[in-house]
Amino acid sequence: MTEALSHPEHGYYMKQDPFGTAGDFTTAPEISQVFGELIGLFCADVWQRQGASRPFSLVEFGPGRGTLMADVLRAVKIVPGFTEAAQIRLVETSPALRARQQETLAGYAVEWRNSLDALPPAPAFFIANEFFDALPAHQFERTDAGWRERLVGFDGEHLQFVLAPSATPAVQLLRPSPVAAVGDVAEIQPAAISILRHMSEHIAQYGGGALVVDYGYTGAAKGDTLQAVKNHSYHGVLSDPGDADLTVHVDFNTLRETAGEFASVDGPVDQGSFFKQLGLHERTEILCKKATAEQAAHLRSGAHRLTAPDQMGTLFKVMSVTPHNSPHPHGFA
Ligand code: SAH
Repeated sequence: MTEALSHPEHGYYMKQDPFGTAGDFTTAPEISQVFGELIGLFCADVWQRQGASRPFSLVEFGPGRGTLMADVLRAVKIVPGFTEAAQIRLVETSPALRARQQETLAGYAVEWRNSLDALPPAPAFFIANEFFDALPAHQFERTDAGWRERLVGFDGEHLQFVLAPSATPAVQLLRPSPVAAVGDVAEIQPAAISILRHMSEHIAQYGGGALVVDYGYTGAAKGDTLQAVKNHSYHGVLSDPGDADLTVHVDFNTLRETAGEFASVDGPVDQGSFFKQLGLHERTEILCKKATAEQAAHLRSGAHRLTAPDQMGTLFKVMSVTPHNSPHPHGFA
C-alpha cells in the first residue's frame, strides 16, 4: 500500500492530482466550501475557549488540493487574532499535490513537511480529512495454525495475496480476538496509531486539538476493508498499483483508545450529525441568498451530499481530541 501510494516515481499520490469529477474521486471539501469553513470555526472556537494563546500551529495532514485549508482560513478571518497567531504547516509527501496546494494557498505563509516531527512547543490544531484511510494497513488471516500475515507476492507476471509461512505472535494487536473463525481477516494500521498518538501527546502537553474526519466504523471489526478506486468506481486492489487510489476503512475504536490514553476524545459521531450541529444548513442558506440560482442549487446539493445518510452523512465519522482540562468542543451532543 505504501509503495502503491507513495513510491517517489510510481506512487499514486506522487504523480498526480486525483481529485474532482475528472479525477478518480471527490472529497468533502471539493463538494462544499461550508465543510472547511465550519472546520475552521470549530478550531477557532476551541482556540478561543482555551485562552487564545499565540503563536500556535495549524496543521493539516494530507491536504489534497489545499481546498479545505483555504476554506478554513477564509472563515476564521472573522475571529480576531487567529490568523495572525496561526503558523500553517501542511504534512504532505506528494510533490504534485504540494504544488497544487501552493497555488490554492497563494498569499499565505505555509510550511510543508513530510511527517509530524519537531513541532514547536506551542498549542497545535490538527486537521485530517480522508488522511487516515490512506495510511498502510496490515492484514492477518486466521488459519488452523493461528494468524498469518497476508503479504503481496509477485510471480513475475501477476501480483497476488500470499500468506506468511509462519503464524504471527502479535495476536494482542488484533481484532477480532484469537477466537475468530478460520478465514477471518483482521486489519490494523500501525502508522495511523503512531501518528494519532503523536498528535494526542502534543495536545495533552501543549494544548490545541485534533479533528479527524474519515470513513470508518465504530462497532465490531469489519475484516478486510482494503479497496481501490479509479475513475469513480471500484477497482481490483492489486490490478493497477500506482494508478488507482487505495484505502481502508478506519477503525475508530482503535483511534479512540489511542488518543484516549493522553487526552479527551469526543465522538466519533456521524459526519451528518456533526456538521448539522455546527450549522451547515444555516450557513448554506446564507450563502444561497447571495448566489445565482445555479450556485444555490450546487450549494444545496453539496450540503445534502455531505449530510444525507444514504450519501456521506453516516459512513463518514468525526472524532475530536482536546486536552483533558479544555471545555468540550461543539458538534458532539
Ligand atoms: N484531505 C484531502 C485529500 C485526501 S487524499 C481532501 O479532503 O480532499 C489523501 C491525502 O493524503 C493526499 O494529499 C496524499 O498525498 C496524502 N498522503 C497520503 N499518504 C500520506 C503520508 N504517508 N504522509 C503524508 N501525506 C500523505
